[in-house]
Amino acid sequence: MPSGRPALRELGLEDAVVSRGAPPLNGLQFGRVDEPPIAVPFPGHQGEQAGLGIRRLSFDAQMTEALAHHSGIQFRSHTEARDVRRDADGMTTVITDAGEVRSRFVAVADGLRSALRHRLGWTVGPRPPHRYGIVAHWMMDGPVDPWVRITFDRGLEVYEGPVAGNQRMVALLCYQDRMREFGGQLESRYREIAQAIRPGLRQAELIGSVSAVGPFWYGATTVADRGIFLVGDAAGFTDPITAEGIATGLRQARALSDALTSPNPERAYRHAHRQLTNDPYRVAALFLRLTRTPALVDRAIRNHGRSPQTLSKLLGIGFGYWGFNRITPREWIRMFTGR
Ligand SMILES: Cc1cc2nc3c(=O)[nH]c(=O)nc-3n(C[C@H](O)[C@H](O)[C@H](O)COP(=O)(O)OP(=O)(O)OC[C@H]3O[C@@H](n4cnc5c(N)ncnc54)[C@H](O)[C@@H]3O)c2cc1C
Repeated sequence: MPSGRPALRELGLEDAVVSRGAPPLNGLQFGRVDEPPIAVPFPGHQGEQAGLGIRRLSFDAQMTEALAHHSGIQFRSHTEARDVRRDADGMTTVITDAGEVRSRFVAVADGLRSALRHRLGWTVGPRPPHRYGIVAHWMMDGPVDPWVRITFDRGLEVYEGPVAGNQRMVALLCYQDRMREFGGQLESRYREIAQAIRPGLRQAELIGSVSAVGPFWYGATTVADRGIFLVGDAAGFTDPITAEGIATGLRQARALSDALTSPNPERAYRHAHRQLTNDPYRVAALFLRLTRTPALVDRAIRNHGRSPQTLSKLLGIGFGYWGFNRITPREWIRMFTGR
């Protein structure tokens, strides 16, 4: 999402990501099957407007390459962190499969199901109703479609966006009840549903494997305590529907590095984390309401013609650009009643 680009730039990675083919993203298109979608461009903010589409595998490879060449960093790939232990002298020891590392500060960034967060006893969730994703990549011929698309169907959304090399990430997002139909036939059912809802995929080639992920909603009792900090999905995750997980993680990492220079880094990071995540979590909750209430999708679509800026403003709240007061009471009423 565009809100992650300043942090990416600051890390010196933006040019490399762009030059290796990550396509720019214009915004979101959403709608119902067999109906024309509505387009919601990303709001402009401080010169940022476009997002970037990149596979996590390529992004991680570019990040690790940069880390490995950084003179101030000793980078160890393929090393498992097995536990964290707080020591009596105020230091923390990370136990890895390649030995122990002692440090004053430890950032735990091991993802949605964070085993280390669990070992610390900080995990909250997964909170029902459980949502899942089934995701794969497709090779598409023709010009790149620069929109992230969400297509709503009965109890399921198809969520897709372009990544480098004429590939498109296509995820099916659904609640537990629809997950059952994938039992024992993940790939065939995924292919069938994705191609039925997005007929353009019938001419596309499925590449790599199909994977299932979830449930999504996890939280933490705290994101910082006595030298240990949670960053990215490990610090809590609502749902991929707002597509800002990477941007949020990058911004949290930035906030942690700032917090380390404060007299009370744990308190500073907890505060910054709240600031960075409160409104985006609320926007994600609102989007989730849409997924459960088809009538709301219809109203949002109807309202968009009369008040096209409202949904862009809502995306801006999710990106942390401004607060909920950016949307006027009249716009809220229109969005929810369609009148
Ligand atoms: C279907 C789907 C679609 C999504 N689409 C988007 C999107 O379009 N845009 C977007 O921004 N976000 C999207 N997200 C969200 C995004 O993927 C996550 O928010 C993001 O990957 C979180 O990054 P992370 O680094 O915190 O965790 P992860 O990406 O999970 O990375 C954690 C890393 O820690 C490593 N690790 C785990 N345990 C250990 C251990 N014990 N020792 C050492 N290493 C360990 C893992 O190998 C992994 O490399 C999507 C998510 C899903 C499920």
